[in-house]
Amino acid sequence: MTPTIPLDLRWAGHPRSIASALLRYGDAVALVDPGPSSTIPHLREQLAVHGLRISELDALFLTHIHLDHAGASGSLVRENPRLRVYVHSRGAPHMADPCKLLDSARRLYGDTMQRLYGEFLAVPQSNLCILEGGETLTFGSRQLQVVYTPGHASHHVTYFDGLEGIAFVGDTAGIAIEGHPFILPATPPPDINLELWSSSLDAIAALDPKRLFLTHFSFSDHPARHIASYRERLLRWSELVAKILSEGVEESQASEAFINAIAAEARASLCQEEVDHYLFNGALQLSWLGLARYHRKRAAAPG
Ligand SMILES: [Zn+2]
Repeated sequence: MTPTIPLDLRWAGHPRSIASALLRYGDAVALVDPGPSSTIPHLREQLAVHGLRISELDALFLTHIHLDHAGASGSLVRENPRLRVYVHSRGAPHMADPCKLLDSARRLYGDTMQRLYGEFLAVPQSNLCILEGGETLTFGSRQLQVVYTPGHASHHVTYFDGLEGIAFVGDTAGIAIEGHPFILPATPPPDINLELWSSSLDAIAALDPKRLFLTHFSFSDHPARHIASYRERLLRWSELVAKILSEGVEESQASEAFINAIAAEARASLCQEEVDHYLFNGALQLSWLGLARYHRKRAAAPG
């Protein structure tokens, strides 16, 4: 039996948007990032394909707490109260009390939040297993290394299954639909930090993984090439945002310039259907906000 199985959660009716990773390590069963609660019906179906029920899951390994990765956690714990939920210490308080997280998400998503992500229930403190990075977790017949990988989010971690050589990188290595070489960064507010991000990519590369598992979407089989090309894209995005900001144009014009430039790049490498799919997954408006915030904060910092 393959120990790592991608589950397509068909988010918002779109295949290949959000993947949860099903881990079957001997008798122990877990998900890396269960997705939002809006996709629980698909999660249930996908688990059933593998003869599993939510009540049979032992753990959720969260790479970070954003709605598209962790939103279902509280609902799954309600259904299966013995679930252990692994999360970085900086994210844990928001899993136990998601009010602030949901307020800031509401500012970004407005009326679409409920429809896209569904409810985000609190996870009882007693279900949370708090990580700092650097741990080696024994789970069933395997071990998972935890690596702190901030940059996309200040509380982001990567899990590494050394035996299989798979690094579960969440959103640290961008969006790349399995089988496509094109990589789209995801840089939403509020935590984007490119210096930390670069160190996180170093830390992932140092694991020498055979495969990366991306939440958006699934396996990337050439980690070194992927990481190198991702670094370059992230840097180019950052330069583009800095340039647009330096032109001092009005905010809506600035974000439009960014979105148009990225969409043009995507069109140069992909067919229209794939461009639409990447841009749907990519939420470029949010990526603009996240990078603009990063640059403005840097410009305002003393020294
Ligand atoms: Zn994501």
